[in-house]
Amino acid sequence: MTAEDFKKVEKNTSSIDGFSKEELYNIAFFESVTNYYNWNWMREKLTNYEQYGIDDFIFVHFDVKDFKMVNELYGHVVGDNLLRRICEAMKNCEWSYFSCRCDNDNFAMMVKRMSREEIKTKLEQFFDNLSVLPEDPSYPIYFRCGVADINNVKDYRVIITDMAKLAQNLGNNANVTEIMFYTDEMKEEQIKGKVIKQEISRALSNNEFLVYYQPKYSPVTNSIVGAEALIRWNYMHKEIWGPGKFVPYLEKERAIDIIDRFVLEQVCIKLEEWKHLGKKLVPISVNLSKTHLYNPTIIQKILSIVDKYDVERRFIEFELTESSTYEDKAYMIKVMNELRNLGFLLSIDDFGTGYSSLNLLSTMPLTTLKIDKSFIDSIEESDGSKAKFILKDIFGMTKHLDITSVAEGVETENQKELIKQWGCDYIQGYYYSKPLPVAEFEKLLI
Ligand code: C2E
Ligand code: CA
Ligand code: CA
Repeated sequence: MTAEDFKKVEKNTSSIDGFSKEELYNIAFFESVTNYYNWNWMREKLTNYEQYGIDDFIFVHFDVKDFKMVNELYGHVVGDNLLRRICEAMKNCEWSYFSCRCDNDNFAMMVKRMSREEIKTKLEQFFDNLSVLPEDPSYPIYFRCGVADINNVKDYRVIITDMAKLAQNLGNNANVTEIMFYTDEMKEEQIKGKVIKQEISRALSNNEFLVYYQPKYSPVTNSIVGAEALIRWNYMHKEIWGPGKFVPYLEKERAIDIIDRFVLEQVCIKLEEWKHLGKKLVPISVNLSKTHLYNPTIIQKILSIVDKYDVERRFIEFELTESSTYEDKAYMIKVMNELRNLGFLLSIDDFGTGYSSLNLLSTMPLTTLKIDKSFIDSIEESDGSKAKFILKDIFGMTKHLDITSVAEGVETENQKELIKQWGCDYIQGYYYSKPLPVAEFEKLLI
């Protein structure tokens, strides 16, 4: 409502007679920032589409990734302009029947029937045209979009909106526009994720979570130099699940921090115990999930666990996976610096699978770099010579920067010998050992 509208309402508190029919229509079906149709208007179209001569449509729902950032960086005027440009683009879309701004930065379109490839191409073009902020052309805009086909969800009618939103919410990669098509498996996966999340507290009190330790070895001395703590779920004490079966779901449900903290605490308990038993301690690494990293109280949470135990911080290493966007990186470096200043060791996990460059190595306060298994695998492939050069470069670079290099997923003698020659510091892989239950791992610590 505009200020004018408010005045009219105030004047006519007991009746709506002061409004013309058109004014009432505008108030009910348009929203004021963009002067474009709102969700009320769209909902009616979705329910009664047949009355408009439409017997078939595809539903599209999307939002702007990190829209909050646009408002924060450039102010609300620029944010509002972006919303208006999106509405203008939807209005000019000749392949859409109806469209609206639902709320905030959420938009919806009812689109003509076409093949999946066709709609994908059209949407890509549509988002591409909106991907530049005129106020700052260097700032890229990305979208998260879900598409649901009424033919696939015929019985659901209006629930089609939920289907599209569900697909949309699976677009979690930063730095890219994602268009996701709804499938029934998505629904099943979503339900599974929710069930798994609900089971965590029960499983924790039933002692179903276990921490395995996969040792890291020096290929020069063939002795243990560290280990990585890896979660296992002894489901109902019947069957041991690997993390692949639940970690990705918990990440999506943003519940992985419970597991990460559980593992950290178990590691602290063990480090204290081993210390008092006079065992030779080696640093143990724990994984820090990206969603966990974004928890603003992460540092306090970590300290509140670690400081309960008589453990030196240099025996705890955090493994983080690389980040893709610049904002991510800046934030990540901030958290890393805090952790490093507190005395923890820091590692980048799965190096080489993301977007990071060797340049990043000099800007991050790293103690360790973990080279992804895919590099090690390609050594023995027929066209593996490129991988060899890259690996040699990485090991050379880490030496110069005084960062410990760890090769992950080493399985054969040949792989071990080669990377040893190229200067790799540590090896974690089945060649030396699989992840072990704690009792077995303890036997390796003298
Ligand atoms: P990751 O952090 O990259 O862990 C290494 C994975 O590679 C482990 O699988 C390990 O068993 C496997 N691996 C090590 N050497 C070899 C080898 O020579 N050959 C083969 N084929 N595999 C090898 P795991 O334990 O199944 O863990 C899988 C992933 O689950 C981990 O990948 C990590 O991303 C996640 N994960 C495990 N524990 C945790 C946790 O406590 N918190 C979080 N956030 N994620 C975890
Ligand atoms: Ca790891
Ligand atoms: Ca890894």
